[in-house]
Amino acid sequence: MEADFPTPSISLKEGFMENVLDKAPFGFSLMSGDYVVEFANDVWLEIAHKTREEVTGKNLFDLFPEAKDQLITLCENVRESRKPFHAPEFCIKLERNGVFEEIFFNFIYHPVYNDDGEFLHFVTVAMEVTEMVGIKSKIREDEERLRLATESSQTATWDLDMETHEIIHSPYLSQIFGYSHGEKLTQEQLRSHIPETEIIDVVDKAFKKALETGIYQYEAKLKDKKGQEKWIFTNGKVFFDDEGKPKRMLGVLQDVTERKKSEILLQQSHHQLNTALDATKLGLFEMNPITQEKYNFSPRFLEIFGYDPETEIIDSHIFEKHIHKNFAETRVVALQRAKETGDLHYQTKIVLRDGSTKWIELYGRLLEATDIRKAYISGTIRDITELKNFEKKISESERKYRFLADSMPQIVWIAEPNGELTYFNKSTTDYSGKSYDEFIEENAWLEMMHPEERKENIRLWAKSVRTKKPFFFEHRFRNANNEYRWFMTRAFPELDESGNVKKWVGTSTDINDMKKMEQQKNDFIKMANHELKTPVTTIKGYVQLLKKMRKDSEDQFLVNSLNTIENQVNKLNILIGDLLDISRIESGTLPLNKKTFSLVELVTETIEDIKASEQSHQINFELMHASDIEVFADKDRITQVLNNLLTNAIKYSPHVKTVNVKLSADHECAIVSVEDFGIGMDPEELNKIFERFYRVSGDDEETFPGFGIGLFIVKDILEKHKGKIWVESEKEKGSQFFFSIPLSKN
Ligand code: ADP
Repeated sequence: MEADFPTPSISLKEGFMENVLDKAPFGFSLMSGDYVVEFANDVWLEIAHKTREEVTGKNLFDLFPEAKDQLITLCENVRESRKPFHAPEFCIKLERNGVFEEIFFNFIYHPVYNDDGEFLHFVTVAMEVTEMVGIKSKIREDEERLRLATESSQTATWDLDMETHEIIHSPYLSQIFGYSHGEKLTQEQLRSHIPETEIIDVVDKAFKKALETGIYQYEAKLKDKKGQEKWIFTNGKVFFDDEGKPKRMLGVLQDVTERKKSEILLQQSHHQLNTALDATKLGLFEMNPITQEKYNFSPRFLEIFGYDPETEIIDSHIFEKHIHKNFAETRVVALQRAKETGDLHYQTKIVLRDGSTKWIELYGRLLEATDIRKAYISGTIRDITELKNFEKKISESERKYRFLADSMPQIVWIAEPNGELTYFNKSTTDYSGKSYDEFIEENAWLEMMHPEERKENIRLWAKSVRTKKPFFFEHRFRNANNEYRWFMTRAFPELDESGNVKKWVGTSTDINDMKKMEQQKNDFIKMANHELKTPVTTIKGYVQLLKKMRKDSEDQFLVNSLNTIENQVNKLNILIGDLLDISRIESGTLPLNKKTFSLVELVTETIEDIKASEQSHQINFELMHASDIEVFADKDRITQVLNNLLTNAIKYSPHVKTVNVKLSADHECAIVSVEDFGIGMDPEELNKIFERFYRVSGDDEETFPGFGIGLFIVKDILEKHKGKIWVESEKEKGSQFFFSIPLSKN
């Protein structure tokens, strides 16, 4: 058999070469073109787990049938291409010691040709690298594990070449900068997302420091590709070469936006807390709930207790030292309660070193800890001296007003904005015989009221509550003896700055006697009028008779006397009429006897009548309407109105003796004006003169006799005719009164 072996190459024949190859630290074999093993060195045999005898002269694929498919194509390629084949970490499945294993080789298949270019051998060089491949893949696995670990902790890694500025980074880094996972970024790209100011103030400074210390660390703001603001933290290490030149920098980078946000929030809330503490002037302390020792006093705390926070220190038993003796018990009770509930709260007086006293309010909360010895009470104190003084003042003033309200004979009450009555003074209970609670809880107020007035009272009260306008009502209340008396109730809303009702304050005044007296007065006036009217009418009749009889008498004194008597009797008559009218107006019984008549005639006649008795003034009449003016009214009462205005015009213009009367009409009504050039009035008087018994007070008062009832009656008469009266006047210049009455509609 041996003789059939192809002749090995020349060099191999030499024992030296064979020796060398045998001992080489790599596997080496020589195969013929048809895959017969011609030579295999020790290492090769070791790799193959075969003996030399087993392999020499054997076909390779008979030796390793499992590798045939893989190797045959490979070798044929080498043969054809004439190029060696390098296979680093080439995996071959081999059966070794009866076990199939994946063996890794660094292979080289080299074709060998003779000088004529004919194929001679395959030279195989094989180095088993199974172990190295194992280590490598372990490193890869470790790397992967590290990558996963860093990514899942949201940490990206980077590796910067300090010479080329090339950066290699983990895929997660791109994501932090707003790019898609794994997108490759350059250092420039990364820096472009950090604002210029941050680059200058933070990044470059950190870089400079890193070159000195080897540690690269910073926290900076960035705007990622999507425009979102983020905070990053980076931590790196610089690697220097032998000459001390920086070569690489490796590091991690984290997105710390959330943490930064909560840090900022925390800072803000710290700030807010401090501002709030400042604004509320709270002093802070902490306390051991077991020993009651206090510590960590804030400057304000010291200030409240009268210590200088800059120079003085206070000891842990400050409270025991300063608490007012009357409050020692309060404190003990509060501390006891705090043990049960965890909340400490009490108000106390303290005595300062200078002997002065202060009121403080203390709040504390037990902050639990797993170890009971570490639990503590965090507390605040507040100086409430002013508040206490104020409270005292308020309660004193409240007492004072309550006393005042109770000592008043009037019924006084207070109601809420919604109308609910919530306070009654003592007079209310005294008068009604009902208890305070009955008033507060039940409907005692309405029950006390006369049934005839209840409905109207409810209506008016509801209206006042709705409109926030004062309430006025006369009604009867039943007293403890079941007798009704008349009361005048008034209530005024107390409004706040925005016009909302804060409270209603009401009073009810007993007007029963007044009402009675008024009634008596009215009865008296009525009776007196009747009694006076008869003799005055009789006198008037006789005077007229006498005047007629002595019409031609030459006794001037007699004629003058009769005229004077007649004038005065007329005035007396008017006065009696006015008084009677007043009592009728008040009782609502002023009768009206309406008919249609000519106002032009009435005005003319009235002026003529006045002229006959009052020659002192020139009265001009101007009719400013083309046709007659007819009204439907009480002729006597309208005459009375005009008379009144004319006599006033004459009375109040003692110097300029002209009075102008004008009559005009529009579609609706007739308007009469009476103008004088007398003493006139101040603007503020103009509305008041229509009130009952109102007279303008002034130096001239004495000179102008009167009762102040004429215009009151005039106004009432006109209102009953759906007419109006108004006045224009100027002091010392004169007055012009106007009145209007609706035209007769026929
Ligand atoms: P009397 O004239 O009886 O006082 P009136 O009711 O007629 O009562 O008038 C009320 C008040 O109005 C008068 O007291 C007077 O001050 C004022 N007054 C009325 N008419 C005039 C007028 N023509 N000029 C100035 N004052 C007048």
